[in-house]
Amino acid sequence: MPLDTSIEFLKGVGPKRAQTLREELGVRNFEDLIYHFPFRYIDRSKFHQVSDIATEEAYVQLKVRCNGVKEIKQKRGSRLEVQVSDDSGQMKLVWFAGLKWIKPQLHEGKHYLVFGRPSNFKGRYSINHPEIQLVESDRAVLKGGLQPVYHSSEKLSAKGLDSRGIMNVQKTLIPKILPYVYENLPDEVVTYHRLMDRKTAIEQLHFPADLESMQKARFRLKFEELFVLQLSLLLNKMGRMEKNQGHVFSKVGSIFNDFYTDGLPFDLTGAQKRVIKEIRKDIGSGKQMNRLLQGDVGSGKTIVALLSMLIALDNGFQAALMAPTEILATQHYEGLKDLLKGTKVQISLLTGSTKVAKRRTLHQALEMGELHILIGTHALIEDKVKFQNLGLVIIDEQHRFGVAQRAKLWRKNKIAPHILIMTATPIPRTLAMTFYGELDTSVIDELPPGRKLIKTMHRHDSARDRVFKFIEDEIAKGRQVYVVYPLIEQSEQLDYKDLMDGFESLSRRFPMPKYQIGILNGKMKSDDKDFEMQRFVNGETQILVSTTVIEVGVNVPNASVMIIESAERFGLSQLHQLRGRVGRGGEQSYCVLMTGYKLSSDGRTRMETMVRTNDGFEIAEVDLELRGPGNIMGTKQSGLPDMRVADLAKDGPIMGMAREAALKLIADDPKISKSENRRLIPDLERVMATKEEWAKIS
Ligand code: ADP
Ligand code: MG
Repeated sequence: MPLDTSIEFLKGVGPKRAQTLREELGVRNFEDLIYHFPFRYIDRSKFHQVSDIATEEAYVQLKVRCNGVKEIKQKRGSRLEVQVSDDSGQMKLVWFAGLKWIKPQLHEGKHYLVFGRPSNFKGRYSINHPEIQLVESDRAVLKGGLQPVYHSSEKLSAKGLDSRGIMNVQKTLIPKILPYVYENLPDEVVTYHRLMDRKTAIEQLHFPADLESMQKARFRLKFEELFVLQLSLLLNKMGRMEKNQGHVFSKVGSIFNDFYTDGLPFDLTGAQKRVIKEIRKDIGSGKQMNRLLQGDVGSGKTIVALLSMLIALDNGFQAALMAPTEILATQHYEGLKDLLKGTKVQISLLTGSTKVAKRRTLHQALEMGELHILIGTHALIEDKVKFQNLGLVIIDEQHRFGVAQRAKLWRKNKIAPHILIMTATPIPRTLAMTFYGELDTSVIDELPPGRKLIKTMHRHDSARDRVFKFIEDEIAKGRQVYVVYPLIEQSEQLDYKDLMDGFESLSRRFPMPKYQIGILNGKMKSDDKDFEMQRFVNGETQILVSTTVIEVGVNVPNASVMIIESAERFGLSQLHQLRGRVGRGGEQSYCVLMTGYKLSSDGRTRMETMVRTNDGFEIAEVDLELRGPGNIMGTKQSGLPDMRVADLAKDGPIMGMAREAALKLIADDPKISKSENRRLIPDLERVMATKEEWAKIS
């Protein structure tokens, strides 16, 4: 009886239920079913007292004596009322259906375990349709221990496969199937991590002897799943490294060195220096670099990008930097051009709005190799753009670029350029290890010196006058202020109205000519947007009212206040990104989160988290807990792997151990050829088959 036997052949299932299991739970064969684990357990050793019941909200478990069974005949069928009691009081259990089956189980004077949700009828609690179980003796009760609860569905329940039904099926299947379950992890891994063996773990996760066994079983199965995942990621990475030749940037020449001595406006932080070393090692290795650079907003990724590009130039290659929006690309271009003033480095900007004539000369200069660095948006991926010798591509804020787009960029050359992806969205460790498991990662975990932490406050709309006064004081000190409104497609009309209303009320409170207020939104023409942005950058406007178009990357060091309106409508990572627009100069900066009084509990958690911490990684962890992994990475694009037991949001520590173990195994047996390791192959193949595109970067 192999594990891939169709589920319909299990006693008590049959073709109809098998079809529903397939449709509702994706359970096809015996293996799928044993991997359909309980999502919680009912502790059959803990009891409520009848007199404690005080709410309809929570399920309760009682141990009661049956004092009398009464069938009440009615026109529309009968009702069964059962009087029960424990030491603390008495109550009724009621059935409206299934009487024929339940009545013979109930005997006056016997004790029962009762599980269900109380309902309150005229001040008295009863339980309708509870689960019941006869108690033979107290010992039997304690032996009951943890009872599994399985995910089911309405359709399955209708076919008798509610949680209890599934439990019964598992009870039939598991003893039969266990002899066919083999240990798939190498003995060394099992011993070193003191793992429960696989057979016992599967059995104990369904029907635990006690809490401790359940926990050990769960750990073992999570570890197994994450270990196989990490192993497949690392093997892929090795395979790619072997396959993908890279340009060799063997030297650091005068372009880099001159800039390093004369052009750098500040000393690099230790973290920046370390990252540049890591990059240098990659690009000199002869293999294609695929490196992710994580660094919180303001940590100084741009200069790292520039220095890396200069190394490419020193070795006779061109470099490109791609940004997700026109504003950002422009700002990168302006900033880098400024830094490169007085050098011979030729740098240009290409975006959707670059004029045709300009475009033509630009294409030509690129092909001739006269242009060294090209900054741009998606326009860089257009087919007409040909580099003479593209050696390095830097992608800023990568998660806005799809996989296909990135691939398009590097197909332009025979040898793939080195790739550095920069992201300011800190990604929780587990997700980074999964999503970027095949990449090398660098982290800038140190802010440039002299930065003051941004003070964050949560204020209700009713405190608006005081917030306005605060804005007034900051402007009097010569500072500038952002006011950001949410704008989402679903409620675009209303959102625009809010934005315009907000703009008007600010204009009344801060009248011209003393104050200048700019307004910025995604609907404006790009020229107009740039004009407004530029006025703010130049300090001509003191207040910039905007939607989230200013979200990423924009750098105005003199702006010290970020007001976020309807802050509850933003996600945590977005709030953090927005807050990162201030605190970029030497002044104390502030972020004010404006909301109404009514907040959902998630909304409240988001506000509290923002007020509590400036740490992007901590914020990302909370975000992951609130929203789950799929929403964070964008399920559709990323297609994060389906986990059977492990939880990508919560199992970071286990994932870390599993990755370590996988690294160790690969170091020892890179081809997975030792017989003990070959047991892993079927699982590896299964994971790789479902993997498709996730985690592929180029
Ligand atoms: P991000 O990582 O968010 O892209 P930037 O590269 O835009 O950050 O840098 C943020 C600001 O910090 C810029 O004004 C930049 O000039 C400045 N900066 C970067 N590195 C340093 C440093 N080592 N010392 C002082 N200022 C720095
Ligand atoms: Mg940046």
